Parts: sequence; structure tokens; C-alpha cells
Amino acid sequence: GDKSSDCHSALLHGKYELGRVLGHGTFAKVYHSRNLKTGKSVAMKVVGKDKVIKVGMMEQVKREISVMRMVKHPHIVELHEVMASKSKIYFAMDLVRGGELFSKIARGRLREDVARVYFQQLISAIDFCHSRGVYHRDLKPENLLLDEYGNLKVTDFGLSAFSEHLRQDGLLHTTCGTPAYVAPEVIGKKGYDGAKADIWSCGVILYVLLAGFLPFQDDNLVAMYRKIYRGDFKCPPWFSSEARRIITKLLDPNPNTRISISNIMDSSWFKKSVPKSVKTK
Ligand code: ADP
Ligand code: MG
Repeated sequence: GDKSSDCHSALLHGKYELGRVLGHGTFAKVYHSRNLKTGKSVAMKVVGKDKVIKVGMMEQVKREISVMRMVKHPHIVELHEVMASKSKIYFAMDLVRGGELFSKIARGRLREDVARVYFQQLISAIDFCHSRGVYHRDLKPENLLLDEYGNLKVTDFGLSAFSEHLRQDGLLHTTCGTPAYVAPEVIGKKGYDGAKADIWSCGVILYVLLAGFLPFQDDNLVAMYRKIYRGDFKCPPWFSSEARRIITKLLDPNPNTRISISNIMDSSWFKKSVPKSVKTK
């Protein structure tokens, strides 16, 4: 193979074999990989140290590892082990075989009852993270994977934060995330509550699932931020009135009045029963 795969095989001590690329993000490439001893398939996230150091993100990668070790949940991708070479860090994770939720939406919007199941699973994972003092900060359909049963798994804690990293004002101050999914108070740079910011992103995700397009969109980034700031979006006519109501509460530009996770879980839209056609654990 090429130079990079030679150095992979040397590092992985013959323990894992790397296969095809499953996906990539900002810093990482994720490979289909097989544990040669057990024969089990895993997903191997490979992060280049040079790239990470260059942008001052090494602490964040360490945080990603410690966070993933803390959050074991049926709807969160599980980390098995971490390895490192001179130039790379390797995360052996659960292989999630159904691809990104993103590809599903790319094929068209979802039925409301199907979207609800994904949203329920997302909220249960995020509720669990928040109860452990972990804020994801980069929730978007590219970081939500589907397993072979169609169950949602949250991944990519690469931008996550711990509540112990809050400043004295009790707020987070790092502006991060993906523009279209980022809460107005995160753009605002005056500090934000990580839980409220995650809830906003869940609102954008729910909107995208139901609509098939983003609630806040503009070719011009500043114009898009202005829409986010004002909470300036419209629900398409096919949204049910209950869906409209919860979306409006999720995409409240004021984090202090934005709906909480417990109120999401108590809402009538959220509590509607799960259809038989969608399998859940
Ligand atoms: P980055 O931090 O660079 O965004 P991610 O952790 O999001 O990296 O992984 C990049 C992509 O790789 C994901 O969007 C997804 O398509 C794929 N991927 C990540 N983890 C897994 C996994 N456990 N199983 C299958 N595919 C995965
Ligand atoms: Mg990612």
C-alpha cells in the first residue's frame, strides 16, 4: 500500500487491519477495521497529530477520549480502545453500519413519526450527557449515525466540553460548532450554557428531519447569523401544529426561555407512541 497505510500497519502491531474509509470530518478519517484476534469489525478513527497540534486542538482530542469513556449509553457510539503512534492517534469504536442520518435526509424529508423516533433517541443520549456534565457542542446529522436496526448513535465528541471547564460565571466561552446548527448565544461570544446550546442544535436537527432543508440558510454567513440571532425561520405547511409548537420552543433565540430537556420529554409531540414499523431497543 501507500506510505500512510504502511505506517498504520506497523503501529497497529498486527492487531487491527484497516479497510475502506467510512467517512471523514475536519481532523479525522474513519476506517472500517477488523480486530485480527477476535475477528470483530470496528470503526477506527485516525487523527493526525501534526494537524491537531497546528491548530492547538490537542487538549480537545484528549477531552474527546475522556468524554467518550464517560458516556456509555445505548444511543452513543462506544469507544473500545485508544492507541497512538508518533504521528497519529487511533480510536477503536463500535462500528455503526447504517451510515449518517445526514445521508438519509439527503434522500428527502422524513415522516413525522419516523423523525420523532430519531429525536427521542437523540434527546435520551443528550440528556444522559448533560447529566454527566458533558456538552456535545457539535450536534448535526453528520455526527448522528444509524446502526443496522435503524437506531441512532451520537458520535464525534471532538468539540465537547466538560462542566468542570466552566469559567467562574458558569458559562462556556469557546465559539465552536457548525454555523447552521449553532445557537445564537454561541455566536454572541458573551458566554453560554452548554446544555441550552445543545438543545438549540437538536431543534435545528428536528427541523431538518421534518423539512428536508435547514431552518436558517443564506449564502452569506453574516446574513445567516442574523436570521439565527432573530430566530427568523418559517415552518413549511406540512408540519403538524404540535411539531410547530415544539420547534418554536426549541428554536427560541433566548436561551433563558428556551425549552429544557425535561419539558421536551413532557411535551405531547415527544410522548406520542412509537410506530411498529420503526424498531427500537
Ligand atoms: P471528525 O471529528 O473529523 O468530524 P467524526 O468522528 O465525526 O470525525 O467521523 C467522521 C465521519 O466518519 C462521520 O461523520 C461518519 O460518517 C464516520 N464515522 C465516524 N464514526 C463512525 C463509527 N463508529 N462507525 C461508522 N462510521 C463512523
Ligand atoms: Mg464529525
